[in-house]
Amino acid sequence: MTPPVNLRILPPVLLKAGYFLTYISAYQTVMAFILDGKEIIDLRSDTVTQPTPAMREAMAHAAAGDDVYGEDPTVNELERKAAELMGKQAGLFVASGTMGNLVALLAHCGRGDEIILGDQAHTFIYEAGGSAALGGIHPRPLRNQADGTLLMEDIVSAIRPDNIHFPRTRLICLENTHNRCAGAALSVEYTHAVGDLARKHGLKLHIDGARIFNAAAALGVKPQELAAPADSVSFCLSKALCAPVGSVLCGSRAFIGEARRARKMLGGGMRQAGILAAAGLVALETMAPRLHEDHAHAKKLAAGLSAIPNLTVEPVSTNIVYFHLPPEAALTDAAFIARLAGRNIKIMAVAQRRFRAVLHYWINSEDVDATLDAVKNIVNDRKD
Ligand SMILES: *Cc1c(COP(=O)(O)O)cnc(C)c1O
Repeated sequence: MTPPVNLRILPPVLLKAGYFLTYISAYQTVMAFILDGKEIIDLRSDTVTQPTPAMREAMAHAAAGDDVYGEDPTVNELERKAAELMGKQAGLFVASGTMGNLVALLAHCGRGDEIILGDQAHTFIYEAGGSAALGGIHPRPLRNQADGTLLMEDIVSAIRPDNIHFPRTRLICLENTHNRCAGAALSVEYTHAVGDLARKHGLKLHIDGARIFNAAAALGVKPQELAAPADSVSFCLSKALCAPVGSVLCGSRAFIGEARRARKMLGGGMRQAGILAAAGLVALETMAPRLHEDHAHAKKLAAGLSAIPNLTVEPVSTNIVYFHLPPEAALTDAAFIARLAGRNIKIMAVAQRRFRAVLHYWINSEDVDATLDAVKNIVNDRKD
């Protein structure tokens, strides 16, 4: 009887299979190493951005001092540089964008004063009502247009006449880019028009410029052109600019003096904050000039998503992409998010059937491809 396989060739075959398996497992180990920290495609926000190696290096070697005494050279340098970029006299390093806006409102307004802002504004929706709770400041929300603007006529009719029945209108707030309005960039012309209106009525203008560098990159202008009509502007270092912590508020020397007092009152006077500011300086130097890459990725993602039947995509102008599942889709929002998460892709559900993906430094073109592939399969209900 002849055996079913030629036993003489079995040992070399097994040996080859063994080599192959060893090769595969070594390859996986190397790839896992290379991909470390990149396995998750996190599109929930640009706040998830890890600091770059250059930032960690700068933080490790930063000169520091007591910033409440004004003695931290790195904070002083960051504030000087930020003010220069915004075309203002002075800057103030604060713990967050929320603190920057609150400190600005406290410095501009007294109790019972009113601020005009958009009903989709971050300050109105996402800042825990801080200006009302802590400053006694009355909000007057106006309908935000889809492009993030407020209509001039709406602003004009919201400005209160001098009458003891009314709160005193003190300030207009704009948001650029506008987070909830599809990341829209407000133009230089529009911002000037609102600034002129504010001055004509003796009001101040504050810009929540959390992503003002994205606005500048998208419009092809300098951030200071967008900030010029404003009395104050705040921007985040911790979003697309990748720094771990912090925002900077900029304005006149006198205004920043008031803001510094408000920051202290809120417990935001930090000591050797130069460790954090060092990353902010690297952010301004290395990250601000590359934001157009995120915008290109956002456009690519939006184009790919809109090619998927049944998905609708809002117009994209910067690094934020909003898209919608149709109301009749069998897939629930939670199931969609969960199935994406199963493929190591994180996005955010912001309202019923409305989703947000934010592009940033740690998302490359291949990640956009992988996301499109995943969304396509999930929406077409192919098995993962
Ligand atoms: C994120 C954000 C803020 C607040 O920044 P935090 O650092 O998260 O407090 C303010 N305004 C806008 C438009 C934002 O997107």
